[in-house]
Amino acid sequence: EDTVARIAAGEVVERPASAVKELVENSLDADATRIDVTVEAGGTDLIRVADDGHGMSEADVRAAVRQHTTSKIESVEDLDSGVSTLGFRGEALHTIGSVSRLTVQSRPRNGGGAGTELVYEGGEIVSIGPTGCPEGTTIEIADLFYNTPARRKFLKTTATEFAHVNRVVTRYALANPSVAVSLTHDGREVFATTGQGDLQAAVLSVYGREVATAMIDVDAEGEQTNDGDLPPGPLESVTGLVSHPETNRSSPEYLSTYVNGRAITSSAIREGIMGAYDGQLGDRYPFVVCFLDAPGDAVDVNVHPRKREVRFDDDDAVRRQVEAAVEGALLEHGL
Ligand code: ADP
Ligand code: MG
Repeated sequence: EDTVARIAAGEVVERPASAVKELVENSLDADATRIDVTVEAGGTDLIRVADDGHGMSEADVRAAVRQHTTSKIESVEDLDSGVSTLGFRGEALHTIGSVSRLTVQSRPRNGGGAGTELVYEGGEIVSIGPTGCPEGTTIEIADLFYNTPARRKFLKTTATEFAHVNRVVTRYALANPSVAVSLTHDGREVFATTGQGDLQAAVLSVYGREVATAMIDVDAEGEQTNDGDLPPGPLESVTGLVSHPETNRSSPEYLSTYVNGRAITSSAIREGIMGAYDGQLGDRYPFVVCFLDAPGDAVDVNVHPRKREVRFDDDDAVRRQVEAAVEGALLEHGL
């Protein structure tokens, strides 16, 4: 049974970046105003996420690594159908903890009690007891996949794994400018946002001055509200920043797009953005941080929990709306 759980964990936790995503989401859920992410060797040796969120009591810490859902994968045959429904609801820490050495240190915020340290290894509590620690939560994941060698072998180079981690942390940092987010790799600080700024300030911290000064405001609202900047379609608004066409990169990885606050990728959105630049980029890509708002039922949520690619009921309309929003912003700058 343990083996099956471990195989399942390996299927759901794809790589260090998937674990980082879960930890950062938990910190945001805990109302953190500061999240420090530290990784070593692309996250394969160590992932540490420290936050100043609401923290946990000893009982909360115990519950946090417990297996919550009852409909668990029972056999290897269930894996195929299982992984798509297992998702991560209430399961992330337990799942990650079954394929790593996990340490949780936590202390409730606002003097709400003493600190607790829990050491969890391969899905078992090794120790739990009081500890001195700051308010908030620090979670360490060491030696991911140490007990699933086949999965560990799937990992790419340190540089590639770190690139995935960087993408994940960048996406959350840009979407949450009011949270101070830092990322450190092998002792070197990669970026740190202040948590006191707007989107432009977050872009400055993450991508640097050259990019930040090249960003153009996008602020388009749907037809049903005031000016009706957007053609008909499911989107109610498209806001954010896109770069001047001269500030571009050869890779699409600097397109950060969000639907209802959730980081996603979508070919319709990508094509809409690229269409707005009308060939000015050649085969290159802009820097983009755009937030799309749509009523929930306009987004097909039936995607694999691990995947970020989203399809809309009407992809064509979304493409037209995004294109119009970005085109409008570029036009205002004579582009
Ligand atoms: P989920 O987030 O779906 O509830 P997780 O396994 O990610 O499941 O986390 C389990 C529980 O542990 C959370 O519901 C939360 O109560 C607690 N928890 C995890 N990380 C933190 C954190 N950084 N700060 C406070 N509580 C946390
Ligand atoms: Mg979670």
